[in-house]
Amino acid sequence: MRQLSTIHLKRGKEDSLRRFHPWVFSGAIQRIDGNVEEGDLVLVVTSTGDFIAIGHWQIGSIAVRVLTFSDEAIDAAFWHRRLSAALELRRALHLADTTDNTTYRLVHGEGDNLPGLVIDIYGPTAVVQAHSVGMHVCREEIAKALRDVMGESLHSIFYKSETTLPFKAELGQENGFLWGDTADNIAVENGLKFHIDWLHGQKTGFFVDQRDNRSLLESFAKGRAVLNMFCYTGGFSVYAMRGGARLVHSVDSSAKAIDMATANVNLNFPGDTRHEAFAQDAFRFLSDMKTGAYDLIILDPPAFAKHKDALRNALKGYTRLNARAFEKIAPGGILFTFSCSQAVNKDQFRLAVFTAAAQSGRRVRILHQLHQPADHPINIYHPEGEYLKGLVLHVE
Ligand code: SAH
Repeated sequence: MRQLSTIHLKRGKEDSLRRFHPWVFSGAIQRIDGNVEEGDLVLVVTSTGDFIAIGHWQIGSIAVRVLTFSDEAIDAAFWHRRLSAALELRRALHLADTTDNTTYRLVHGEGDNLPGLVIDIYGPTAVVQAHSVGMHVCREEIAKALRDVMGESLHSIFYKSETTLPFKAELGQENGFLWGDTADNIAVENGLKFHIDWLHGQKTGFFVDQRDNRSLLESFAKGRAVLNMFCYTGGFSVYAMRGGARLVHSVDSSAKAIDMATANVNLNFPGDTRHEAFAQDAFRFLSDMKTGAYDLIILDPPAFAKHKDALRNALKGYTRLNARAFEKIAPGGILFTFSCSQAVNKDQFRLAVFTAAAQSGRRVRILHQLHQPADHPINIYHPEGEYLKGLVLHVE
């Protein structure tokens, strides 16, 4: 292996790394020894030349994403150790090795000490997503370790990084199988079945991060008229059906999402007429719908703010959306409302929803405060890893 380039930090810039924050920002760098290219492994040293970390080099304000704070080789054994640790945690969470649930996130980037890497498990298939060139370069090694760690339970590995890698890196990246080739795309979440379209779907094909929140929704569904807004693959709808909802309406602006939601409801509840799906814009649907038509509403929109500079508009968007729901929800209704924008923090989201409630003049109480599930762990030294937040509200 060729010599790693060395990144020398400015004085004092090692402090956050000593506290295990896993990024080196470009402004923290004093000088670089060697010819470094995006995706290379680099050695990070303090201003006095002491070892501090090894990571992947990337172009941008985050210059290094740290793989380890120990002076160790990034080899097959390293990937094996990290993936084993990730699987062990999912076993401890009772998500892996059960027939009742074959859908979980095995690797959640920084939360599993593997910045830039996401691996979701869908039954016999793992979907691997690289968010950094460094992880892209390592994909074959990662796939090999994944096969070793998962053993017989894994039949194929699909690589899906076409849209998550920096396009300027010009890697000629295509989505495809790294290993195996399976048409079996049905995964089980809490005993419910879902078709997973990793090829065309958003993210890795399914929103694994709403599992716990869907379960909670199920417990509220009995006898209610449910509106699942931004339904995508219909996750919340299927749980509402099992929970005994009186009717379930799923809405998404994408016709493909509506087809998927319908297929998933049919997979679990064939011939059940309680469900209907509408390919419509959410704001339009909320304006047009009759007041009091629903007493359980889910609002799970796409990230309104992808960057900090879009924050103000995003907060306005959350307020506008939630205000519509508060105006129309039946008395005694329950609202599940979410934000998955990493740039919007818990307090800002709550303030946006507070503003919406105040505009509607309804009496609103918070019943639950929701977040991402345990298979999307947040490294305490990397609070940026927290992104999903939600509120369950009672509206008088
Ligand atoms: N609740 C889903 C995930 C939602 S993802 C789950 O549990 O899996 C966000 C969804 O919002 C996407 O499917 C996207 O097609 C849809 N969407 C985006 N803008 C929309 C709009 N203006 N009206 C309705 N749906 C929209």
